[in-house]
Amino acid sequence: MAALPDKKTDFIEWYLAVVESAGLSDKRYPVKGMNVWTPYGFRARRSLDRIMIREIEATGSEAVEFPALIPQTEFAKEKEHIQGFDAQVYWVTKGGANDLDIPLVLRPTSETAMYPVFALWIRSHQDLPLNVYQIVNTFRYETKTTRPFIRVREIHFFEEHTCQVDEAAATARVRSNLAAFEKMAAAFALPFVAVRRPEWDKFAGAYYSVALDIPVGEARTLQIGSVHHYRENFSGPYGIRYEAADGTSKLVHQTTFGLSERLLGAVLAVHGDAKGAVFPRELAPYEVIVIPILSATAGDVPARAANEIVATLSKVGLRVHLDDRNDRPGAKYYYWELRGAPLRLEVGAREAAARSASAVDRLGQRRTVQLDSLVADVESALAAFDSALSMKARSEFGQSFALAHSVEELRDSKQVRQLLWCGSEECGHAIEQAIDGALLGTPEGRPPIEAPLSGGCIVCGEISVRWALAARPL
Ligand SMILES: [Zn+2]
Repeated sequence: MAALPDKKTDFIEWYLAVVESAGLSDKRYPVKGMNVWTPYGFRARRSLDRIMIREIEATGSEAVEFPALIPQTEFAKEKEHIQGFDAQVYWVTKGGANDLDIPLVLRPTSETAMYPVFALWIRSHQDLPLNVYQIVNTFRYETKTTRPFIRVREIHFFEEHTCQVDEAAATARVRSNLAAFEKMAAAFALPFVAVRRPEWDKFAGAYYSVALDIPVGEARTLQIGSVHHYRENFSGPYGIRYEAADGTSKLVHQTTFGLSERLLGAVLAVHGDAKGAVFPRELAPYEVIVIPILSATAGDVPARAANEIVATLSKVGLRVHLDDRNDRPGAKYYYWELRGAPLRLEVGAREAAARSASAVDRLGQRRTVQLDSLVADVESALAAFDSALSMKARSEFGQSFALAHSVEELRDSKQVRQLLWCGSEECGHAIEQAIDGALLGTPEGRPPIEAPLSGGCIVCGEISVRWALAARPL
Protein backbone atom coordinates (compact mmCIF):
# COMPACT_ATOMS: atom_id res chain seq x y z
CA MET A 1 0.00 0.00 0.00
CA ALA A 2 1.44 3.32 -1.10
CA ALA A 3 2.15 6.08 1.40
CA LEU A 4 -0.54 8.75 1.84
CA PRO A 5 -0.10 12.12 0.11
CA ASP A 6 1.49 14.81 2.27
CA LYS A 7 -1.12 16.40 4.55
CA LYS A 8 0.54 19.81 4.65
CA THR A 9 1.24 20.33 0.97
CA ASP A 10 -1.56 18.25 -0.53
CA PHE A 11 -4.36 18.46 2.00
CA ILE A 12 -7.40 17.52 -0.12
CA GLU A 13 -5.63 14.57 -1.76
CA TRP A 14 -4.44 13.42 1.66
CA TYR A 15 -8.00 13.72 3.06
CA LEU A 16 -9.59 11.73 0.23
CA ALA A 17 -6.92 9.02 0.53
CA VAL A 18 -7.49 8.69 4.29
CA VAL A 19 -11.29 8.39 3.94
CA GLU A 20 -10.91 5.78 1.27
CA SER A 21 -8.05 3.70 2.65
CA ALA A 22 -9.46 3.74 6.19
CA GLY A 23 -12.62 2.19 4.76
CA LEU A 24 -14.97 4.85 6.13
CA SER A 25 -17.07 5.67 3.08
CA ASP A 26 -17.55 4.29 -0.43
CA LYS A 27 -18.03 7.01 -3.02
CA ARG A 28 -18.54 4.63 -5.95
CA TYR A 29 -22.34 4.75 -5.58
CA PRO A 30 -23.72 5.86 -8.97
CA VAL A 31 -25.13 9.21 -7.74
CA LYS A 32 -22.49 11.89 -7.33
CA GLY A 33 -22.24 13.16 -3.75
CA MET A 34 -24.33 10.32 -2.32
CA ASN A 35 -21.97 7.93 -0.61
CA VAL A 36 -22.30 4.56 1.06
CA TRP A 37 -21.74 4.26 4.79
CA THR A 38 -19.49 1.21 5.15
CA PRO A 39 -19.65 -0.97 8.28
CA TYR A 40 -16.62 0.79 9.79
CA GLY A 41 -17.84 4.25 8.81
CA PHE A 42 -21.30 3.50 10.17
CA ARG A 43 -19.77 2.65 13.55
CA ALA A 44 -18.13 6.08 13.62
CA ARG A 45 -21.46 7.64 12.67
CA ARG A 46 -23.20 5.81 15.50
CA SER A 47 -20.59 7.15 17.92
CA LEU A 48 -21.16 10.65 16.54
CA ASP A 49 -24.93 10.33 17.01
CA ARG A 50 -24.50 9.01 20.54
CA ILE A 51 -22.45 12.06 21.56
CA MET A 52 -24.86 14.54 19.93
CA ILE A 53 -27.91 12.87 21.47
CA ARG A 54 -26.35 12.77 24.93
CA GLU A 55 -25.45 16.46 24.97
CA ILE A 56 -28.64 17.82 23.39
CA GLU A 57 -30.93 15.71 25.57
CA ALA A 58 -29.03 16.95 28.64
CA THR A 59 -30.41 20.40 27.74
CA GLY A 60 -34.02 19.18 27.68
CA SER A 61 -34.47 18.54 23.96
CA GLU A 62 -36.61 15.64 22.76
CA ALA A 63 -36.25 13.49 19.66
CA VAL A 64 -38.87 13.67 16.89
CA GLU A 65 -38.95 12.69 13.26
CA PHE A 66 -40.76 14.55 10.50
CA PRO A 67 -41.38 13.31 6.93
CA ALA A 68 -38.72 13.81 4.25
CA LEU A 69 -41.13 15.36 1.71
CA ILE A 70 -42.43 18.92 2.05
CA PRO A 71 -45.30 20.39 -0.03
CA GLN A 72 -44.13 23.20 -2.28
CA THR A 73 -46.89 25.41 -0.78
CA GLU A 74 -45.38 25.12 2.73
CA PHE A 75 -41.81 25.40 1.48
CA ALA A 76 -42.57 28.73 -0.22
CA LYS A 77 -44.00 30.51 2.84
CA GLU A 78 -40.81 32.15 4.14
CA LYS A 79 -39.46 34.17 1.23
CA GLU A 80 -35.75 34.55 2.10
CA HIS A 81 -35.59 30.89 3.04
CA ILE A 82 -36.94 29.66 -0.28
CA GLN A 83 -34.63 32.03 -2.18
CA GLY A 84 -31.67 30.72 -0.17
CA PHE A 85 -32.46 27.11 -1.03
CA ASP A 86 -34.08 27.43 -4.42
CA ALA A 87 -31.07 26.29 -6.42
CA GLN A 88 -30.31 23.44 -4.00
CA VAL A 89 -33.52 21.42 -3.71
CA TYR A 90 -34.56 18.17 -5.31
CA TRP A 91 -38.17 18.03 -6.45
CA VAL A 92 -40.59 15.10 -6.46
CA THR A 93 -43.16 15.88 -9.12
CA LYS A 94 -44.67 12.49 -9.94
CA GLY A 95 -46.43 9.70 -8.09
CA GLY A 96 -46.19 6.72 -10.41
CA ALA A 97 -47.33 7.98 -13.81
CA ASN A 98 -49.38 10.86 -12.38
CA ASP A 99 -48.16 14.42 -11.98
CA LEU A 100 -48.62 15.49 -8.37
CA ASP A 101 -51.13 18.33 -7.75
CA ILE A 102 -48.64 19.95 -5.41
CA PRO A 103 -44.95 19.18 -6.11
CA LEU A 104 -42.93 17.98 -3.12
CA VAL A 105 -39.50 19.13 -1.98
CA LEU A 106 -37.05 16.56 -0.61
CA ARG A 107 -36.08 18.32 2.63
CA PRO A 108 -32.84 20.33 2.43
CA THR A 109 -33.50 21.19 6.13
CA SER A 110 -36.76 20.89 8.05
CA GLU A 111 -38.04 24.34 9.04
CA THR A 112 -40.83 24.19 6.49
CA ALA A 113 -41.72 20.59 7.36
CA MET A 114 -41.97 21.24 11.09
CA TYR A 115 -43.40 24.71 11.45
CA PRO A 116 -46.92 24.12 10.07
CA VAL A 117 -47.18 21.33 12.68
CA PHE A 118 -45.66 23.46 15.47
CA ALA A 119 -48.52 25.90 14.77
CA LEU A 120 -50.94 23.06 15.67
CA TRP A 121 -48.99 21.88 18.72
CA ILE A 122 -48.56 25.24 20.40
CA ARG A 123 -51.62 26.86 21.99
CA SER A 124 -50.56 28.55 25.21
CA HIS A 125 -47.46 29.71 27.05
CA GLN A 126 -47.72 26.38 28.92
CA ASP A 127 -46.62 24.64 25.70
CA LEU A 128 -43.35 26.60 25.66
CA PRO A 129 -40.51 26.18 25.34
CA LEU A 130 -40.76 23.54 22.63
CA ASN A 131 -37.29 22.03 22.18
CA VAL A 132 -37.10 19.14 19.69
CA TYR A 133 -34.43 17.65 17.47
CA GLN A 134 -34.14 15.02 14.79
CA ILE A 135 -31.24 13.16 13.18
CA VAL A 136 -32.25 12.40 9.59
CA ASN A 137 -30.91 12.55 6.08
CA THR A 138 -31.36 15.80 4.19
CA PHE A 139 -30.77 16.45 0.52
CA ARG A 140 -29.06 19.33 -1.24
CA TYR A 141 -28.19 19.59 -4.87
CA GLU A 142 -24.58 20.71 -4.41
CA THR A 143 -22.98 22.26 -7.43
CA LYS A 144 -19.50 22.52 -5.89
CA THR A 145 -17.10 19.58 -5.90
CA THR A 146 -18.40 16.95 -3.49
CA ARG A 147 -16.15 15.38 -0.81
CA PRO A 148 -17.02 12.50 1.53
CA PHE A 149 -18.47 13.81 4.83
CA ILE A 150 -17.52 17.42 4.04
CA ARG A 151 -19.73 18.26 1.07
CA VAL A 152 -22.32 15.69 0.07
CA ARG A 153 -25.76 15.72 -1.51
CA GLU A 154 -27.36 13.32 0.94
CA ILE A 155 -26.40 14.60 4.39
CA HIS A 156 -26.61 12.82 7.74
CA PHE A 157 -28.03 15.81 9.57
CA PHE A 158 -28.73 16.79 13.18
CA GLU A 159 -31.22 19.64 13.54
CA GLU A 160 -32.73 21.10 16.67
CA HIS A 161 -35.73 23.41 16.32
CA THR A 162 -37.09 25.36 19.25
CA CYS A 163 -39.94 27.75 20.01
CA GLN A 164 -39.53 30.25 22.85
CA VAL A 165 -41.74 32.85 24.51
CA ASP A 166 -39.64 35.85 23.45
CA GLU A 167 -36.40 37.09 22.00
CA ALA A 168 -34.50 36.87 25.29
CA ALA A 169 -35.51 33.23 25.80
CA ALA A 170 -34.43 32.47 22.24
CA THR A 171 -31.07 34.18 22.88
CA ALA A 172 -30.68 32.01 25.99
CA ARG A 173 -31.38 28.93 23.86
CA VAL A 174 -28.62 29.98 21.42
CA ARG A 175 -26.22 30.21 24.40
CA SER A 176 -27.35 26.83 25.69
CA ASN A 177 -26.71 25.28 22.25
CA LEU A 178 -23.21 26.78 22.15
CA ALA A 179 -22.52 25.36 25.62
CA ALA A 180 -23.80 21.93 24.52
CA PHE A 181 -21.55 22.07 21.47
CA GLU A 182 -18.58 22.87 23.67
CA LYS A 183 -19.16 19.54 25.42
CA MET A 184 -19.51 17.68 22.12
CA ALA A 185 -16.33 19.32 20.83
CA ALA A 186 -14.50 18.17 23.97
CA ALA A 187 -15.47 14.59 23.14
CA PHE A 188 -14.13 15.11 19.60
CA ALA A 189 -10.98 16.83 21.00
CA LEU A 190 -11.83 19.55 18.49
CA PRO A 191 -10.99 23.19 19.33
CA PHE A 192 -13.35 25.58 17.49
CA VAL A 193 -14.38 29.20 17.34
CA ALA A 194 -18.01 30.40 17.41
CA VAL A 195 -18.41 33.27 14.96
CA ARG A 196 -21.40 35.50 14.32
CA ARG A 197 -21.70 35.62 10.55
CA PRO A 198 -21.96 38.99 8.78
CA GLU A 199 -25.43 40.01 7.55
CA TRP A 200 -24.68 38.97 3.96
CA ASP A 201 -23.67 35.48 4.97
CA LYS A 202 -26.33 34.49 7.52
CA PHE A 203 -28.68 31.54 7.08
CA ALA A 204 -31.60 32.16 4.74
CA GLY A 205 -34.40 33.57 6.91
CA ALA A 206 -32.34 34.04 10.10
CA TYR A 207 -32.20 37.14 12.30
CA TYR A 208 -28.60 36.17 13.02
CA SER A 209 -26.40 33.08 12.61
CA VAL A 210 -23.54 31.85 14.77
CA ALA A 211 -21.30 29.43 12.90
CA LEU A 212 -18.86 26.96 14.44
CA ASP A 213 -15.58 27.09 12.53
CA ILE A 214 -12.34 25.16 12.76
CA PRO A 215 -9.02 26.00 11.08
CA VAL A 216 -7.71 23.24 8.82
CA GLY A 217 -4.34 24.69 7.80
CA GLU A 218 -3.13 27.28 5.26
CA ALA A 219 -5.78 29.89 6.23
CA ARG A 220 -8.54 27.43 5.39
CA THR A 221 -11.53 26.88 7.66
CA LEU A 222 -14.34 24.39 7.80
CA GLN A 223 -17.79 25.28 9.15
CA ILE A 224 -18.83 22.33 11.29
CA GLY A 225 -22.18 23.56 12.52
CA SER A 226 -24.37 26.56 13.20
CA VAL A 227 -26.90 28.02 15.58
CA HIS A 228 -29.54 30.45 14.33
CA HIS A 229 -31.88 32.92 15.98
CA TYR A 230 -34.98 33.39 13.80
CA ARG A 231 -36.85 35.90 15.94
CA GLU A 232 -40.39 35.90 14.42
CA ASN A 233 -39.21 35.45 10.84
CA PHE A 234 -40.74 31.99 10.52
CA SER A 235 -43.42 32.06 13.22
CA GLY A 236 -45.11 34.96 11.35
CA PRO A 237 -45.60 33.23 7.99
CA TYR A 238 -46.36 29.85 9.66
CA GLY A 239 -48.70 31.34 12.28
CA ILE A 240 -46.98 29.82 15.34
CA ARG A 241 -48.77 31.78 18.08
CA TYR A 242 -49.50 31.28 21.74
CA GLU A 243 -51.77 32.79 24.32
CA ALA A 244 -49.62 34.63 26.86
CA ALA A 245 -50.39 34.65 30.61
CA ASP A 246 -52.11 38.02 30.19
CA GLY A 247 -54.43 36.59 27.53
CA THR A 248 -52.81 38.29 24.51
CA SER A 249 -51.83 36.31 21.40
CA LYS A 250 -48.10 36.36 20.59
CA LEU A 251 -45.73 34.92 18.01
CA VAL A 252 -43.05 32.55 19.28
CA HIS A 253 -39.35 33.29 18.79
CA GLN A 254 -37.47 30.43 17.20
CA THR A 255 -33.96 28.98 17.11
CA THR A 256 -32.24 26.13 15.31
CA PHE A 257 -29.00 24.24 15.84
CA GLY A 258 -27.52 22.24 12.98
CA LEU A 259 -24.69 19.71 12.85
CA SER A 260 -23.85 16.95 10.42
CA GLU A 261 -21.55 14.16 9.32
CA ARG A 262 -19.13 16.96 8.48
CA LEU A 263 -18.00 16.62 12.10
CA LEU A 264 -16.49 13.27 11.11
CA GLY A 265 -14.69 14.95 8.24
CA ALA A 266 -13.46 17.62 10.67
CA VAL A 267 -12.08 15.03 13.08
CA LEU A 268 -10.24 13.31 10.23
CA ALA A 269 -8.93 16.64 8.93
CA VAL A 270 -7.71 17.89 12.31
CA HIS A 271 -6.35 14.75 13.97
CA GLY A 272 -5.28 12.64 10.99
CA ASP A 273 -1.57 12.30 10.19
CA ALA A 274 0.90 10.63 7.84
CA LYS A 275 -0.25 7.19 9.04
CA GLY A 276 -3.96 7.86 8.46
CA ALA A 277 -7.03 8.56 10.59
CA VAL A 278 -6.88 9.29 14.33
CA PHE A 279 -10.11 8.96 16.31
CA PRO A 280 -10.62 10.34 19.81
CA ARG A 281 -11.91 7.45 21.92
CA GLU A 282 -15.56 8.49 22.13
CA LEU A 283 -15.91 8.83 18.38
CA ALA A 284 -13.87 5.77 17.48
CA PRO A 285 -15.63 2.83 15.78
CA TYR A 286 -13.61 0.62 18.16
CA GLU A 287 -11.81 2.01 21.19
CA VAL A 288 -9.52 -0.99 21.59
CA ILE A 289 -8.10 -3.50 19.10
CA VAL A 290 -6.74 -6.74 20.54
CA ILE A 291 -4.04 -8.51 18.53
CA PRO A 292 -2.77 -11.95 19.59
CA ILE A 293 0.85 -12.53 18.49
CA LEU A 294 0.74 -16.08 17.26
CA SER A 295 3.79 -18.31 16.87
CA ALA A 296 4.52 -21.99 16.40
CA THR A 297 5.96 -22.34 19.91
CA ALA A 298 3.28 -20.30 21.70
CA GLY A 299 0.40 -22.64 20.86
CA ASP A 300 -3.01 -21.24 21.77
CA VAL A 301 -1.76 -19.29 24.82
CA PRO A 302 -1.85 -15.81 23.15
CA ALA A 303 -5.27 -16.49 21.61
CA ARG A 304 -6.70 -17.55 24.97
CA ALA A 305 -5.33 -14.41 26.65
CA ALA A 306 -6.68 -12.25 23.82
CA ASN A 307 -10.14 -13.78 24.21
CA GLU A 308 -10.06 -13.15 27.94
CA ILE A 309 -9.14 -9.49 27.30
CA VAL A 310 -11.97 -9.02 24.80
CA ALA A 311 -14.49 -10.61 27.18
CA THR A 312 -13.39 -8.45 30.13
CA LEU A 313 -13.46 -5.18 28.16
CA SER A 314 -16.77 -5.93 26.38
CA LYS A 315 -18.42 -6.66 29.70
CA VAL A 316 -17.88 -3.06 30.86
CA GLY A 317 -19.19 -1.67 27.57
CA LEU A 318 -15.93 -0.78 25.83
CA ARG A 319 -16.04 -1.05 22.05
CA VAL A 320 -13.40 -3.71 21.53
CA HIS A 321 -12.46 -5.74 18.47
CA LEU A 322 -10.39 -8.92 18.23
CA ASP A 323 -8.17 -9.04 15.15
CA ASP A 324 -7.36 -12.72 14.87
CA ARG A 325 -6.93 -12.74 11.10
CA ASN A 326 -4.18 -14.93 9.79
CA ASP A 327 -1.77 -12.09 8.97
CA ARG A 328 1.55 -10.71 10.23
CA PRO A 329 1.30 -8.57 13.39
CA GLY A 330 3.11 -5.70 11.62
CA ALA A 331 0.49 -5.65 8.87
CA LYS A 332 -2.26 -5.51 11.49
CA TYR A 333 -0.59 -2.59 13.33
CA TYR A 334 -0.40 -0.68 10.06
CA TYR A 335 -4.03 -1.56 9.25
CA TRP A 336 -5.41 -0.24 12.54
CA GLU A 337 -3.18 2.83 12.55
CA LEU A 338 -4.61 3.73 9.13
CA ARG A 339 -8.12 3.27 10.57
CA GLY A 340 -7.36 5.47 13.57
CA ALA A 341 -8.01 3.02 16.42
CA PRO A 342 -7.08 4.84 19.67
CA LEU A 343 -5.49 1.85 21.41
CA ARG A 344 -4.22 -1.59 20.46
CA LEU A 345 -3.29 -4.36 22.84
CA GLU A 346 -0.65 -6.85 21.70
CA VAL A 347 -0.45 -10.13 23.52
CA GLY A 348 2.16 -12.80 22.81
CA ALA A 349 3.33 -15.86 24.76
CA ARG A 350 5.61 -13.79 26.99
CA GLU A 351 2.89 -11.25 27.86
CA ALA A 352 0.32 -13.99 28.40
CA ALA A 353 2.65 -15.79 30.80
CA ALA A 354 3.07 -12.56 32.78
CA ARG A 355 -0.72 -11.92 32.64
CA SER A 356 -0.11 -8.66 30.84
CA ALA A 357 -0.40 -7.06 27.41
CA SER A 358 1.50 -4.38 25.59
CA ALA A 359 -0.68 -1.32 24.92
CA VAL A 360 0.18 1.14 22.13
CA ASP A 361 -1.95 4.21 21.52
CA ARG A 362 -2.45 5.92 18.15
CA LEU A 363 0.06 8.62 19.07
CA GLY A 364 2.70 5.93 19.64
CA GLN A 365 2.77 5.83 23.46
CA ARG A 366 3.55 2.31 24.67
CA ARG A 367 2.81 0.92 28.13
CA THR A 368 2.14 -2.41 29.83
CA VAL A 369 -1.32 -3.25 31.13
CA GLN A 370 -2.05 -6.03 33.63
CA LEU A 371 -4.82 -8.54 33.00
CA ASP A 372 -5.76 -8.46 36.66
CA SER A 373 -6.41 -4.70 36.57
CA LEU A 374 -7.26 -4.59 32.89
CA VAL A 375 -10.28 -2.27 32.85
CA ALA A 376 -8.61 0.39 35.01
CA ASP A 377 -5.34 0.14 33.07
CA VAL A 378 -7.08 0.42 29.68
CA GLU A 379 -9.28 3.29 30.87
CA SER A 380 -6.21 5.16 32.03
CA ALA A 381 -4.38 4.52 28.73
CA LEU A 382 -7.42 5.81 26.78
CA ALA A 383 -7.71 8.88 29.01
CA ALA A 384 -4.01 9.65 28.55
CA PHE A 385 -4.39 9.26 24.78
CA ASP A 386 -7.41 11.58 24.62
CA SER A 387 -5.68 14.20 26.69
CA ALA A 388 -2.52 14.09 24.54
CA LEU A 389 -4.66 14.30 21.38
CA SER A 390 -6.55 17.24 22.76
CA MET A 391 -3.33 19.04 23.73
CA LYS A 392 -1.86 18.48 20.29
CA ALA A 393 -5.01 19.82 18.61
CA ARG A 394 -5.12 22.83 20.92
CA SER A 395 -1.53 23.73 20.15
CA GLU A 396 -2.13 23.45 16.38
CA PHE A 397 -5.31 25.53 16.79
CA GLY A 398 -3.33 28.27 18.52
CA GLN A 399 -0.81 28.35 15.67
CA SER A 400 -3.57 28.63 13.05
CA PHE A 401 -4.38 32.30 13.74
CA ALA A 402 -2.42 35.49 13.19
CA LEU A 403 -3.26 39.17 13.48
CA ALA A 404 -3.47 41.25 10.31
CA HIS A 405 -2.79 44.96 10.71
CA SER A 406 -3.41 46.00 7.12
CA VAL A 407 -5.28 44.87 4.02
CA GLU A 408 -1.90 44.17 2.43
CA GLU A 409 -1.13 41.59 5.13
CA LEU A 410 -4.20 39.59 4.12
CA ARG A 411 -2.79 38.62 0.74
CA ASP A 412 -1.22 35.16 0.61
CA SER A 413 -2.21 34.48 4.22
CA LYS A 414 -0.97 31.18 5.60
CA GLN A 415 -3.11 31.53 8.73
CA VAL A 416 -6.65 32.55 9.58
CA ARG A 417 -6.50 36.32 10.10
CA GLN A 418 -7.86 38.18 13.08
CA LEU A 419 -8.38 41.85 12.31
CA LEU A 420 -10.18 45.02 13.32
CA TRP A 421 -13.34 45.74 11.34
CA CYS A 422 -15.81 48.61 11.49
CA GLY A 423 -18.77 46.36 10.67
CA SER A 424 -19.61 47.87 7.27
CA GLU A 425 -20.42 45.62 4.35
CA GLU A 426 -18.18 47.63 2.05
CA CYS A 427 -15.09 47.08 4.21
CA GLY A 428 -16.14 43.45 4.71
CA HIS A 429 -16.08 42.84 0.97
CA ALA A 430 -12.70 44.60 0.63
CA ILE A 431 -11.34 42.19 3.26
CA GLU A 432 -12.82 39.20 1.42
CA GLN A 433 -11.27 40.31 -1.83
CA ALA A 434 -7.83 40.77 -0.24
CA ILE A 435 -7.77 37.33 1.37
CA ASP A 436 -9.55 35.74 -1.60
CA GLY A 437 -11.98 34.13 0.81
CA ALA A 438 -14.61 35.16 3.35
CA LEU A 439 -15.04 37.44 6.29
CA LEU A 440 -16.18 34.75 8.72
CA GLY A 441 -17.63 37.34 11.09
CA THR A 442 -17.09 38.35 14.69
CA PRO A 443 -16.13 35.83 17.42
CA GLU A 444 -18.74 35.22 20.12
CA GLY A 445 -16.90 35.65 23.39
CA ARG A 446 -13.11 35.74 23.42
CA PRO A 447 -11.31 35.94 20.07
CA PRO A 448 -8.64 33.28 19.30
CA ILE A 449 -5.86 35.84 19.84
CA GLU A 450 -6.18 37.99 22.93
CA ALA A 451 -5.03 41.47 22.05
CA PRO A 452 -6.15 44.99 22.99
CA LEU A 453 -8.99 46.31 20.83
CA SER A 454 -7.13 49.46 19.77
CA GLY A 455 -6.61 51.02 16.36
CA GLY A 456 -8.96 51.41 13.43
CA CYS A 457 -10.71 49.27 10.79
CA ILE A 458 -7.96 47.85 8.59
CA VAL A 459 -9.80 49.09 5.51
CA CYS A 460 -11.29 52.53 6.33
CA GLY A 461 -9.55 53.46 9.60
CA GLU A 462 -12.84 53.97 11.50
CA ILE A 463 -12.07 53.62 15.22
CA SER A 464 -15.35 52.10 16.36
CA VAL A 465 -14.28 48.50 15.71
CA ARG A 466 -14.67 44.86 16.69
CA TRP A 467 -12.53 41.78 16.13
CA ALA A 468 -13.33 39.78 13.03
CA LEU A 469 -11.86 36.69 11.36
CA ALA A 470 -11.07 36.22 7.69
CA ALA A 471 -10.17 32.94 6.02
CA ARG A 472 -10.59 30.79 2.93
CA PRO A 473 -13.44 28.40 3.80
CA LEU A 474 -13.16 24.90 2.32
ZN1 LIG B 1 -14.19 49.91 7.75
